[in-house]
Amino acid sequence: MSAPRHDVAVVGGGMVGAVLSVALEQAGFKVALIEAREPAPWSANDDYDLRVSAVSPASRNLLANLGLWDAVAAGRISPYRGMRVWERPGGPRLDFEHSALGLPELGHIIENNLIVTAAWNRMAAVRRYCPALLEALTVESDRVQLFLDSGETVEARLAIGAEGARSKVRDLAGMATRGWAYGQRCTVGTVTTERSHQAIAWQRFLPTGPVAFLPLADGRCSLAWHADDALAHTLSALDDSTFLDRLTEASDAALGQVTAVAARAAFPLQLQHAQEYVRPRLALIGDAAHVLHPMAGQGVNLGLMDIATLVDVLTRARDKSQDIGALRVLKRYQRPRRAENALMLGAVDGIQKLFAGSTGLLAELRNQGMASLNALSPLKQLMIQQATGFSGSPPPLLRPPGG
Ligand SMILES: Cc1cc2nc3c(=O)[nH]c(=O)nc-3n(C[C@H](O)[C@H](O)[C@H](O)COP(=O)(O)OP(=O)(O)OC[C@H]3O[C@@H](n4cnc5c(N)ncnc54)[C@H](O)[C@@H]3O)c2cc1C
Repeated sequence: MSAPRHDVAVVGGGMVGAVLSVALEQAGFKVALIEAREPAPWSANDDYDLRVSAVSPASRNLLANLGLWDAVAAGRISPYRGMRVWERPGGPRLDFEHSALGLPELGHIIENNLIVTAAWNRMAAVRRYCPALLEALTVESDRVQLFLDSGETVEARLAIGAEGARSKVRDLAGMATRGWAYGQRCTVGTVTTERSHQAIAWQRFLPTGPVAFLPLADGRCSLAWHADDALAHTLSALDDSTFLDRLTEASDAALGQVTAVAARAAFPLQLQHAQEYVRPRLALIGDAAHVLHPMAGQGVNLGLMDIATLVDVLTRARDKSQDIGALRVLKRYQRPRRAENALMLGAVDGIQKLFAGSTGLLAELRNQGMASLNALSPLKQLMIQQATGFSGSPPPLLRPPGG
């Protein structure tokens, strides 16, 4: 039988799958990308994508090493140089500056579809199947076959599930997950505030969930308002004027009155972790492997860290003439990434729980101003990890370009 046409088939061309495809292509692999929906191209003429991400300096290194950063930076990005985190008006507040880490900034706020567009534009030899939905797969001794709703079949040595939280590869392979729904939603939107954001990310913790303003390049902010389902539904039903008054109050008027909001949307929040990331000829990456509460802005950053490790592992295996779909090779990816991601999922979940709810011991501690101080310290550690992005010796894609 002839060798499979592709080395790797990536299923899902969102931020993680698209950047992974570019990275694999540049590492010399023959890549197929299967994506269900034609990506909506980013345009400077459109208003901000409702979905933005806080992208860490380590993630920036990865994008730069793949030649994607210039295209992203030529779009609309905003650095954030500080963070302000607090709970009660006049209570303790964590002020955190880029200078404490010796970095020019703590990260950048970037529209999700800008990253996706830059990656799709950068692909040269990637064979794209789009729009096409993965429906079924079979794993054989030397290949995996992917069956698409278009009637096409894609063959590769390795298939990588990058289709987000409801991964089809994961489900078809019967790879179990652990997790729960938070019973919360995050309301997002682009808001105008009376006072300048000063290139700072502002986050107030409320018993119902944190409300955050992330700085945008045109002076507005991207809102991320986490709230219990019931409150989120109430907020969705409000007219703009009442919504803005509620938001001004919820944000402790940190940036003065909130005067306008563009379109809003709300996303349900969950924690989900795949118990295994790999099987023979199969691997999971990004949200297909792990989903966490977005309050620490870690999701896509973890996915980009996954890419750096996976591409390093596959490249080394190929260079030693090893089978890139072999389980023992893929476990070299699973071992470090699952451990690192589990730590981050646990840390963010712990902070979420510490602040959640308006009754009980934690609320009592909060009232005494104690929980805030205790909780802000791990939050600070998270921010440092977010800024530096990787502990230990980083794989080549995470190193500073030219470094
Ligand atoms: C409100 C909110 C705010 C967030 N803020 C941040 C932040 O500030 N920083 C951060 O790092 N992270 C943040 N995140 C998390 C981040 O958005 C996700 O981690 C990231 O989008 C995951 O990317 P992905 O490519 O893995 O998955 P997705 O973005 O879900 O992409 C999956 C892709 O697969 C395709 N697909 C699905 N099924 C199939 C199939 N069967 N066949 C073919 N294609 C398929 C889909 O069409 C899609 O394009 C936030 C999340 C939320 C909800």
